[in-house]
Amino acid sequence: MMESNPSLASLIDSASAAVAELSGQTARWRAAAPGRVNLIGEHTDYNQGWVLPVAIDRYTAMAAAPGVPGQIRVRSLAIAQESSLSLDQLHTPHRDPWMRYVQGVIAQYDSRGVHCPGLDVAVASSVPPGGGLSSSAALELATAHLLEAVTEQALTGSERIEACVQAEREMAGVPCGIMDQTVVELAESGQALLLDCADQTARSVPFDSQAPALLVIHSGVSHALAEGAYAQRRADCEQACAQLGVNTLREVSPDQLARLKDEGVLLQRATHVVSENQRVCDAVTAIEQRQWDRLGALMTASHRSLRDDYEVSCPELDLLVELATAEPGVYGARMTGGGFGGCVIVLVASDRLEAVAGSVSGQYNEHMGWAPGCYRIQAGAGAREICTAL
Ligand code: ADP
Ligand code: MG
Repeated sequence: MMESNPSLASLIDSASAAVAELSGQTARWRAAAPGRVNLIGEHTDYNQGWVLPVAIDRYTAMAAAPGVPGQIRVRSLAIAQESSLSLDQLHTPHRDPWMRYVQGVIAQYDSRGVHCPGLDVAVASSVPPGGGLSSSAALELATAHLLEAVTEQALTGSERIEACVQAEREMAGVPCGIMDQTVVELAESGQALLLDCADQTARSVPFDSQAPALLVIHSGVSHALAEGAYAQRRADCEQACAQLGVNTLREVSPDQLARLKDEGVLLQRATHVVSENQRVCDAVTAIEQRQWDRLGALMTASHRSLRDDYEVSCPELDLLVELATAEPGVYGARMTGGGFGGCVIVLVASDRLEAVAGSVSGQYNEHMGWAPGCYRIQAGAGAREICTAL
């Protein structure tokens, strides 16, 4: 079943109404940031490679009014919870894990000389929390822009991104890369963002309404192995680099892989990273030349590589990709995100999107006993562009 998608304006209205109810005052400041999905380039970020995400037309919106001095009260409509944070406790992780994302950003700004006054805040969101569409980066960047509106002090774009990355790493305790916050901040409407994770330079790649549609399907599972496996994959990549005598797998060409002493797991891991980097570059060319069959084939090849060489897929994601790629009108499909659950992304002809979502959901339900969440995604604007227009 296709999940509904309320407009940004209605999310802003909901957050504004909720803050009025919470504080008894009209909302004075507003901010919003989108979620994101990665088209291709998985597990390449920490290998200093390339990724190709888009910001999506789903958002986290925040509204605020002046509050009690020294205190931030936050009501989240998305998770139906309310919590408060004492501004003299900024650097001790909050007892409510979700508040740490807001707290982390406020703390990062505080250490950069931007001090948050007492506030009442409400959050409304159409980015499903924990759904692989980066609700965490959306919440962080919305908080960052809200704070800048309140204090009338602005960081530069790269400082803002860095503050949000550090908030997630240090306060929420998630060892994330830079992709989510970068694309959520910098994306432009109708464009994917080619991001070079080595030097953090980015360039837009047109992915407008002429491109096929994007369908994201959430498997409904999130396997516990993810964290340990992530650390293990990073260690495998480091070991492969040591054997090859290079600093990063980015520098390695396909024929150099033969120099690896280990012809087992390390060769598999390195093969994925090296081939995935090539696929990202090829995907950019395919998009620029509007070769959608080619882009789809690269996405499906990416999935196979993640499944067989990097071994971060799971039966549920494999089933969704298999079902989707068997449908007429589908160019290609792959798991997106770290793996072991979460979402697949499907490149599909626009006029086939509803039919494909219905058919894949029905068959998945028959196999698994539950229907997956389906999201129609369009490449949307980043937080910078959204907040400038608000
Ligand atoms: P993802 O970023 O893929 O959605 P994460 O696990 O990185 O998943 O982040 C999800 C967490 O972020 C949630 O469990 C919650 O703690 C927090 N979060 C995200 N959006 C909201 C929101 N609108 N309201 C409250 N907490 C949120
Ligand atoms: Mg996240």
